[in-house]
Amino acid sequence: MLRLVTRILGLAFVASLAACGTVGTHGVKNTSKTFTTVVVDAGHGGKDSGAYRRYGPPEKMVTLDVAQRLERKLRESQVKTVMTRDSDVFIPLNDRVAMENKQKSAVFVSIHFNDSRKRRTHGFETYYHSGASFDLANGIQQKLMTIPNSANGGVHTANFRVLRLANCPAVLVECGYLSNRSEGNQARDWEYRELLADRIAEAIVEQRYGTGVYRPSPQITAQIRPQAEATSGGTSPAPAGSR
Ligand SMILES: [Zn+2]
Repeated sequence: MLRLVTRILGLAFVASLAACGTVGTHGVKNTSKTFTTVVVDAGHGGKDSGAYRRYGPPEKMVTLDVAQRLERKLRESQVKTVMTRDSDVFIPLNDRVAMENKQKSAVFVSIHFNDSRKRRTHGFETYYHSGASFDLANGIQQKLMTIPNSANGGVHTANFRVLRLANCPAVLVECGYLSNRSEGNQARDWEYRELLADRIAEAIVEQRYGTGVYRPSPQITAQIRPQAEATSGGTSPAPAGSR
């Protein structure tokens, strides 16, 4: 009898472990299909310029620009947003974590650009930490790969603090290498940054509401596609009233 009770208790213990396992590491709440808010994080800022080796503009400037465009697109899709920064200021990582964890039902998306000692290294990469974040990370990476001539750097796990300490699904997107001549130069182009933001927004909205729900801004369909198809574009002036 005692042996039976021990066995039942043992099974109950294993079952409770399995239940925890589905929640993810340190109790991450899987809100990836139910979230009401997206915390948009522009990497770096203020005294922290970000990527050191670069052809393009300072990383902190392009991360802010893509984050602001992304934020606008999400709001247009009726998704609530919180920005960790909205200007060129330094925000410590712990403060960013506090902002993401203050939300009741959110996902966290951090925008970065990469750099490498090897100038030829290029491509998009998306990082996550908890299992609950994988679908969102994968969705964003897949959408970025629809950009013409994009290179797939893959979806990876990482121990970045803003991912590790998040109690909601959290991903970090590396939108190409500023240290690579081609991707660095692309990052200078606001239309390209608009396209990056559009693809990331589409992935987030589809993750929440399903495929086919997201509507890209008319700018994307009217201007970006012909531009992206051109082999060597140069920089066309921004159309009046588009900024
Ligand atoms: Zn960065």
